[in-house]
Amino acid sequence: MTRFSFDLHNTDGKARTGVIHTPRGDIRTPAFMPVGTAATVKAMMPESVAATGADILLGNTYHLMLRPTAERVDRMGGLHKFMNWDKPILTDSGGFQVMSLADLRKLTEDGVTFKSHVDGSKHFLSPERSMEIQKLLGSDIVMCFDECPALPADEQTVAESMRLSMRWAQRSRDAFGDRPGHALFGIMQGGVTPHLREESAKALVDIGFEGYAIGGLAVGEGQEAMFGVLEYAPDFLPTDKPRYLMGVGKPDDIVGAVKRGVDMMDCVLPSRSGRTGQAWTHRGQVNIKNARHQDDPRPLDENCTCPCCRNYSRAYLHHVFRAKEMISGMLLTWHNLHYYQEIMAGMRGAIAKGEFAAWEADFHAKRAMGDIEPV
Ligand SMILES: [Zn+2]
Repeated sequence: MTRFSFDLHNTDGKARTGVIHTPRGDIRTPAFMPVGTAATVKAMMPESVAATGADILLGNTYHLMLRPTAERVDRMGGLHKFMNWDKPILTDSGGFQVMSLADLRKLTEDGVTFKSHVDGSKHFLSPERSMEIQKLLGSDIVMCFDECPALPADEQTVAESMRLSMRWAQRSRDAFGDRPGHALFGIMQGGVTPHLREESAKALVDIGFEGYAIGGLAVGEGQEAMFGVLEYAPDFLPTDKPRYLMGVGKPDDIVGAVKRGVDMMDCVLPSRSGRTGQAWTHRGQVNIKNARHQDDPRPLDENCTCPCCRNYSRAYLHHVFRAKEMISGMLLTWHNLHYYQEIMAGMRGAIAKGEFAAWEADFHAKRAMGDIEPV
């Protein structure tokens, strides 16, 4: 049986490329994980998600525990079978979404009691319950249950929250048990304070995890503050384990994170944007509902090989968006996910050849040109 392992192949500056091996398949890094919140990447068939080049997707513990429940997913054979995705799945711990979505939260040393945003029913999440749920789902990469204070917060609040998360990390490790082929990732906290980030990293490395996430970013602090933390935080983590930046981001956030030593990311942005008429291309962001596209016979991105760009004009995409046709979200989501995977593949290739700086300069130069001139 394949065990969970990570091979670091090349580094270029701080940027890294490698492969995570799992029994369900390899994950090429840097990797972007599309988000399949409720056991679906919205508007996409699973085989279409795979066709964009995704090696792994993310499922949300909070959403799945409420509906259809982890126990029901388990009875149906686990999340992979339930949603028809046989490649690796990473699940979050539910902690972040309890904080951002649930009502009437009560936080204690033991865990969090909250009311469902779906039907008001009462639930409890703790490190032990989160590990149980993620096991029932059949997740390949399980995340520690943690707590993340909303920023801005004073240093004392961030420190106390981080230390609670480190105690929860130990409880998560203990509850996870011995599961060959599956991985448990620790999550570094500590806000924007270097010595707290370092303390958090040391606590996690002492416990020992198969990978490490950099948590508490992409929560509204802005790109400059995020990159500020990424200048030093990855250096506190072991070089021989994957590093995961949670909830990031826009294309330039992703490129900047990889440049600073991050191996994995996830974000709802490409799929959510696709449903609101927003496309991401080599030349930046395109708003397809803009009237300038209504007579434009050209594709979104003439250099893109996705089915949306191969077969449909901007005029058609504009029309189906305005007419609220379902194919609008389907085509734009496909294109956006394809474009994100193309960025990842481009970075992997450039890092392997020691040409990341040139690739990055070209990425920014094309975006600075802005969208193609109107017809
Ligand atoms: Zn495309």
